[in-house]
Formats: sequence, structure tokens, C-alpha cells
Amino acid sequence: MTSPEQPEYAPIPRSAFGPALNDQGYYVGRVERNLYWVTDGVYQSAFLTTRDGVVVFDAPPSIGGNLRRAVDEIASANGVTNRVTHFVYSHHHADHGGAASLFGGDVVRIGHEETKRLLLRDDDPSRPVPEVTFADRYTLEVGGERAELAWHGPNHTPDNIYIHFPGHDTLMFIDVVNAGWVLIYNLNLSEDVIGYMGAPDIAVSYPWTHFISGHLGRLATRDDVAVHQQYIADIEASAREALTAIDPVPFYVAAGENLWAGVKAHLDAVTDRAAAPVIAKYTGVLAAADIEVFTRTTTFQIMQSLRLDRGVTVSGPAVHP
Ligand SMILES: [Zn+2]
Repeated sequence: MTSPEQPEYAPIPRSAFGPALNDQGYYVGRVERNLYWVTDGVYQSAFLTTRDGVVVFDAPPSIGGNLRRAVDEIASANGVTNRVTHFVYSHHHADHGGAASLFGGDVVRIGHEETKRLLLRDDDPSRPVPEVTFADRYTLEVGGERAELAWHGPNHTPDNIYIHFPGHDTLMFIDVVNAGWVLIYNLNLSEDVIGYMGAPDIAVSYPWTHFISGHLGRLATRDDVAVHQQYIADIEASAREALTAIDPVPFYVAAGENLWAGVKAHLDAVTDRAAAPVIAKYTGVLAAADIEVFTRTTTFQIMQSLRLDRGVTVSGPAVHP
């Protein structure tokens, strides 16, 4: 097998990486006290060890059985039970919950009511539906430890929740901020653009020092969230400018009767104009920012949301006279 050819990209700064993985391909580390996080370098999961049992938060299938190994390793080192009694879904996506069925038997599964609805819809045996659901808030108390689960509206998905550990100075909030790395396609494959853009403000309104973002090899900091917020704000400002600055008429005139060719040429021109300065600014700041399609597709999503949700118009009157 020949490996696919790679373009020349800028080197990844060491600060974008986390601790080295062990021989089995995972790293487990203490966040604070008895809260731990696990990574395979790309995905992240977390667990609390308590005197009454272990609470697991997300089970990415890429970590899979290594999550069980990590729990066993820590429980044994700390002399506490390795029995997983509770499992919490951050959201319904299979890439974060697809190993949930590894913790079978008498595990209590907890998730947002929309997570349950979506899991029933998706009908995937690797993601059993949560028995315990909530609408806005749920306090999970196990063995004297506490996690506060909250839903503050749709963002990455309709059901993505905030998991706050008040006794561990930590917030777990998945698939919105990538610590040190640029987002992947389309706002990290997010569904609600306005909700996604506002979510970091909600995240920083909680008290925390450690942030479990669900992806890549290290924990995030408040500075990481601030860089992410600036990146999104820069894209929004740039998209507003490009939308109003570029006259669509010449594109439609050139396309003739093929109206969709006019749409493509116009929107591509707006996207390119809006994304270019952001890609230039963040190359060397966020790892892989020079993979231009990521910022370009994210810019396209935000630009379309500005038009459809916020009512920002291209040049010309907003309402036909
Ligand atoms: Zn997701």
C-alpha cells in the first residue's frame, strides 16, 4: 500500500501536543484529586473514582478498552473500587460515546433528554440510551463527589451539555474548543452556528482552571478558550465585511442562465475574501491553521448564518422594494 501524498504544512508547535502515550496507546492523568482524564492523542474521556464506584464521562471508541485499563490502573494505585457504577454522555455522537456499551451490567447511564431521543432515533447498540435524563440541570452525586450537568441550548449538537466539577476546578465541554489546534471542517461539524458561537461565553462563565475539550492530547486552559473566541470573532467580522463589500451582480451576469453557477462564484469569492486574512493571522498560532479548507468551511458556515440567522444582507436592499 502506498501512503497518500501529503502537502507541505507548517510544523506543529510542541505546545499543541500533550504528554506521551504509553505502550498501549493511551495516557491517563490526574486533573485534580480523584478526577482523571484519558487520551489517545486525538480523543479525550474522563472519570471520577469515588468510595462507592467509578463515574465515567464519555467513552470514545478510539480509546475503547484502554478506558477500562486506565480506570483499573488508577483504582488499583489508589486502593479504591474499579467498579463503574455511572456513565455520563456529553452528547449523542458516536465518536464520543460509541464505547459506552463496554460498561455494561448495572451501570446507571445519564444524559440529556435530547440525547436519549437522538440515541433512540440512531438505534446503535454500542450506545445504550440513558435511563436517567434531565432537561436543564442535573446534580450527580456519587460517593461524596459531585458533577453538575447543565444544558444551555443547542451548539455543536442540540444535546451537548456542560459538565462542571465544582470540587475539581474543572469544566468538561466537548467538541467546541480544540486546545491549541484549529477547528476541523464546518465549525467542528457543528449544527447550530449561533449556539456554537455563543457557547464559549457560557463555558467561561463557570469557575474552572482545567478544561476537558474532548479532543487532542492535552487539557485546555482559559487562554485556549480566549484564542478560540478571538478566532471565531475574527471570522465573523471578516465574513460581515466580505458579504457587504462584494457585489454579487457581476457573478450572476457572468453565469448567465445558470443561476447556481452565479451562486457558487459569488459565495466562493465572499468565502475566500473572508477566510484569507484569518488563515494568515492564525498560521503559527493554532496548529494546522494552514490547512485552509478548515477555516474556509467554517467561514462559509458563519457567513451563511450571518445571512440566514442575523439578516445581514449582501449589497442591495434587504427587502424588495
Ligand atoms: Zn460531536
